[in-house]
Amino acid sequence: MKSPTHLYGIPVLSHLKTKFVYEFYRVMFLTDNYTAEETAAIIKAVFLFGRKEKELTGLKNSAGESLKTDSENTSKSDEYFRERRDKLLNWIKVFPETTDEELREYFIFHALPEPDIFTVLGFRTTLMVRAPSNIKEKLDKVIIGQDKAKKVMSFAFYLHLIRTGIIQPHIHQLKGVNGSKPDVLPRPNILLVGPTGSGKTLTIKTLCNMFSIPFIKVDCSSLTSSGYVGNHLNDYLKQLIHHHGKTKAEQAVIYFDEFDKMSEINIGGSGRGSVGGVELQQEFLSFLEDRDRIITRTGNEDGRSQETINIENIMLIFSGSFHGIEEIIMKRLQAGKKEFTKYLKSPEELKEEENILQKINYTDIISFGIIPELTGRLGFIAVLDKLSESDIVEIMKGGAGGIIEQYRNYFAHHYDRLVIEEEVYSLIAAEVLRRKIGARAINGIIIELLQDLLYDAPNEFEEEFRIDRAFFMKRFS
Ligand code: ADP
Repeated sequence: MKSPTHLYGIPVLSHLKTKFVYEFYRVMFLTDNYTAEETAAIIKAVFLFGRKEKELTGLKNSAGESLKTDSENTSKSDEYFRERRDKLLNWIKVFPETTDEELREYFIFHALPEPDIFTVLGFRTTLMVRAPSNIKEKLDKVIIGQDKAKKVMSFAFYLHLIRTGIIQPHIHQLKGVNGSKPDVLPRPNILLVGPTGSGKTLTIKTLCNMFSIPFIKVDCSSLTSSGYVGNHLNDYLKQLIHHHGKTKAEQAVIYFDEFDKMSEINIGGSGRGSVGGVELQQEFLSFLEDRDRIITRTGNEDGRSQETINIENIMLIFSGSFHGIEEIIMKRLQAGKKEFTKYLKSPEELKEEENILQKINYTDIISFGIIPELTGRLGFIAVLDKLSESDIVEIMKGGAGGIIEQYRNYFAHHYDRLVIEEEVYSLIAAEVLRRKIGARAINGIIIELLQDLLYDAPNEFEEEFRIDRAFFMKRFS
């Protein structure tokens, strides 16, 4: 194991054995014997006065005793969890460099259930957010590329967090103003425009996970084709309340996928536009204007019950590829430049410039067939770019948890290692781009590439399996 230079924000003394130091901190961190401040003081003393290993072992053992009884305590009450959480938040303050992984370790050790871990990690993230840029830094670790869109989404989410009271603006924290929300803040509803498989859903889901915000995804095309354009949104509110309780439901994010399929017109016989689309758009509009909704719930013990839910702070995301909108944008751009016609680029040339979509504005969305009243209420537009070959390669490699890593783990049962030659990554990426469904194609292609190998795994343990151009070409040429 590589020797760590810091543990819980404290530099590691190199003259102590790595394993020992690691264990020592681990126990100090996990134990209930010491508060965060006491632990900090002990660790400092260890460093300042160079305590002997024997003394440290003594400390470790005494801490170990309390650990044992603690892990045997299996009946965890709410009170127990609250205490843990408060203690943990103190830990975070004293040891701000504690990582999510270390916190996870702490929770798993204390046998806290997964949803609680999730809540506290979300809570911790909110403590660390001082500005939208902090949110984007976290997103950067998961979402490849899409810099502009990530900025817009981070800002919109920041607003959402303040509006829902999940975070206090930094200035309030400094002034010690508690529990007060700013009076008027823009509603952070977002229109997401971008090709399929470019990271629209993943970004919003990641943001919701980060802050432990309920997320629900709805496919608009299934809504309109069902022919029933009634009180859909109330149904989703019911689901949210059912799964998360009313307070959390009031902070939720509802993600409407394939929103572009609801355009009211059918330009050039493209097949776009749908029956019921406009009615649904009207329904969204009233949702964005209403303050409260009355929900009738059935199936309770006492039959039907009515309750009011405040929907002001529920965040709506409208997402779609808006196929064909590039032409609308180009027409607008060209109309505005009539007098310079001779310098004008041809539509083909303009289309070549991949970021034509980045030039989208509200009039284009109206021209596409979204009613002006609704368009005007979409506070933010985030445009996602088509992923490039190098983006796809980066997603594939994606570190721990990435698809390649998962197969590497599988291969480890039969081979010492799976080696994929660098060139093959570009070949796979090119194949992904050919399929035109964005990064979503990655998994399928990897499976196609490896399936015979996966099926015919050798009985003998072999050293390595190398995937090179020839291997790739055998399947994809
Ligand atoms: P859509 O834009 O259609 O909503 P998704 O966000 O659902 O697409 O992306 C599908 C999958 O492709 C994701 O689960 C993820 O594995 C991968 N993916 C797409 N875009 C990105 C990206 N920018 N960064 C990392 N992974 C991505």
